Amino acid sequence: MLAAGLSGLGLYLVFNQQNERERLEASERDRLITQSKVIEQNLSRQLVAIDLAITSIVGNLPYWAGLPDGQKQAVRQLKSLEDSMPSVRTFLVLNAQGDVILSNRDELMQRNFSQREYFQAPLRSLNPRVLFVSPPFKSVLNTYLFNLTHVVLDVQGKFAGVVSVGVDPVDIEILLNSVRYADDMRSMLVHGDGKVFVVEPPTPELLGKDLSAADSFFSQHLANKHTVSTFKGTAYSSGDERLPALRTIQPAALQMDKPLVIAVSRHLPTLFSHLQKDAINQFLGYLMLVLLSGIATWWYQMGRTRQRLSAQRLKLATEAAGVGIWEFDLKTKRYHWDASMFELFGLDPNKVNLNNDDWLQLTLPGELERIKNATRVAIDQNQPFDLTFKILRPDGEVRYMRNRAALFGESQANSSRMIGTTEDVTERKMKEADLRIAAIAFNCQEGMVVTDASMNILRVNRAFSDLFGYSSEEAIGQTPRVLQSGRHDQAFYQVMWADIIGKGVWQGEVWNRRKNGEVFPEWLTITAVYDSAGAVTHYVATHIDITLRKAAEDEIRHLAFYDPLTHLPNRRLLRDRLQHAMAQAKRDGTQLGLMFVDLDKFKPVNDQHGHAVGDQLLQAVAHRLSTCVRESDTVARVGGDEFVVLLSMITGALDAVLVAEKVHSVLQQVFILPDGAHVNISSSAGIAIYPEHGTTEAELTLCADAAMYQAKAAGRDRFVVFDGTSLQSAEANLT
Ligand code: GH3
Ligand code: MG
Repeated sequence: MLAAGLSGLGLYLVFNQQNERERLEASERDRLITQSKVIEQNLSRQLVAIDLAITSIVGNLPYWAGLPDGQKQAVRQLKSLEDSMPSVRTFLVLNAQGDVILSNRDELMQRNFSQREYFQAPLRSLNPRVLFVSPPFKSVLNTYLFNLTHVVLDVQGKFAGVVSVGVDPVDIEILLNSVRYADDMRSMLVHGDGKVFVVEPPTPELLGKDLSAADSFFSQHLANKHTVSTFKGTAYSSGDERLPALRTIQPAALQMDKPLVIAVSRHLPTLFSHLQKDAINQFLGYLMLVLLSGIATWWYQMGRTRQRLSAQRLKLATEAAGVGIWEFDLKTKRYHWDASMFELFGLDPNKVNLNNDDWLQLTLPGELERIKNATRVAIDQNQPFDLTFKILRPDGEVRYMRNRAALFGESQANSSRMIGTTEDVTERKMKEADLRIAAIAFNCQEGMVVTDASMNILRVNRAFSDLFGYSSEEAIGQTPRVLQSGRHDQAFYQVMWADIIGKGVWQGEVWNRRKNGEVFPEWLTITAVYDSAGAVTHYVATHIDITLRKAAEDEIRHLAFYDPLTHLPNRRLLRDRLQHAMAQAKRDGTQLGLMFVDLDKFKPVNDQHGHAVGDQLLQAVAHRLSTCVRESDTVARVGGDEFVVLLSMITGALDAVLVAEKVHSVLQQVFILPDGAHVNISSSAGIAIYPEHGTTEAELTLCADAAMYQAKAAGRDRFVVFDGTSLQSAEANLT
């Protein structure tokens, strides 16, 4: 728009300049025409007057010829005429031979001017009505003169001479000068043949110049036959740029053989010089304007570019930071949000009416109150505002938003708007929480080691130091290899690392060594930590001491298979061993003995000495039973005072009987118990032989049990080898 305006102004200036020139030129032409008219009228009058004078002289010639002192009178007359006509210098009357017969100037008398053009031209024409205008000629005084001449005919109509008037150009010079209104203006009088003979201001090089060349303004003027013409261009006369008006002088009252032409002109560059100055001034002013507006535009554009750049930078920065920018007008209660704000809150800019506080509906219970309070405090105390609150986004996610704002206004005390940023700090909050959790988790009861990818220890926790005896300072910089016990071979560690590399985690039991050299079992978990590119950055190892657990496991196993009081195998283990023994006996074709032993009258011992003594007795019995059998045999306690002896690889019932006798006799010995009690007791036993009495556990148990009942029934303190009567006896006892 600026360029269009400037171009318009430029065009207007050029057009205006052109217009001015044309106007000036037109008015100048008018003026020149007027001035030429003034000259023409003046000159015409003089010509007419001269013509009249000549005519009167011609008319008087016969009169003077008839007078005796005619010549004297005529000369007197001519002299007085000269006085009354200032432009006339010479009156001449020439006879047919060209001799001067009358003149106002005595010195010219008797001279012959027959060769002069003003004599020759009338002689050729012989027209008495024509006023012959001679070409100008240089006088002895170096001025140009011209003659006006009438022919004189005698009564027969024959050529009798001429009356000629030499015109003094001084008067014409004054006239031509008088019409000049500017220094550069030139007035010229030109003869019809083209010769310049009066020039004002006086210009010697123009005087006498012939303007009849075809391309001169003069020739053009004569050719167009107009009384007056104006031109513009290079003057033939002086070679400079001129604006001339040319006017032909040929008064109607006179019949002139040659016209006279007046040329008044102005020097064009001078004429236009002030316009030129104006134009230059205007052009300079215009240039200045263009320059200034160019600079102003450049400044403006620079400013705008800077503004756009800074806006762009801000936008990029806020977008990159995930920050939204908002504004709140305290007076109108109107909000303005940028696009990021809507994104942060998960709202559609086209559907949400910010000014209805729609977005506040997203805040979780209690948060709205906090926001309002904080806003009020910020406004009341004119303080910056910084608040983190929770929202439930329309997509169902709970997000933490941090609002920071400052107040702006005309004055400090009178804030009119709040401008702020909103940032989603959920991730940060989560990370903070994660870090807190991680810190707490790190200080847990389990020993923890963090290494870099090259297995250099970076960090250990207190539990690790407690577990291994290495302080944090001692451990950092080492590798976990210092913990190795040497109990695992190369293959073990290869499998471990294959798992860590393949699955990112390995766990299992490992024997490791404490700083004091003690080797202990632990439950080790090694987890690889990856960066976002999937490369391992750290390993985290958790060490749990399982010494106690292992012991507990052993104890549980023991409880499951052994009698806690006597540490003898219990019924479960016995059954197991019996199965094995039967399988082996079957393979080997050997026999087994299964002997049930029950103490006689044990209850009274309890009653008499107390339960603890009863227990001690049971432990002592267990010990004595164990001494009666081989390593490969099993003594089990299967009930209160009920024991079972499994004899493997016997050759027959006799072997079992021998053991039964031994058992019977050792239990008869007095028991001196730790409490000091002396106890005597007897026992009853029943014996079954595999495969003779049964080939399954149930059959053998039944038989041994029956034999034992038979022994009890038979009065106790004995043993019975199963036979057919045992079963009957048992049945009888049951009934
Ligand atoms: P019998 O000659 O018929 O075998 O008579 P008994 O007194 O031995 O009676 P019985 O074998 O039927 O009962 C065993 C008793 O042993 C019952 C219970 O009071 C006692 N008893 C069982 N388990 C324990 C134990 O672990 N410790 C102690 N001190 N006594 C037990
Ligand atoms: Mg008993």
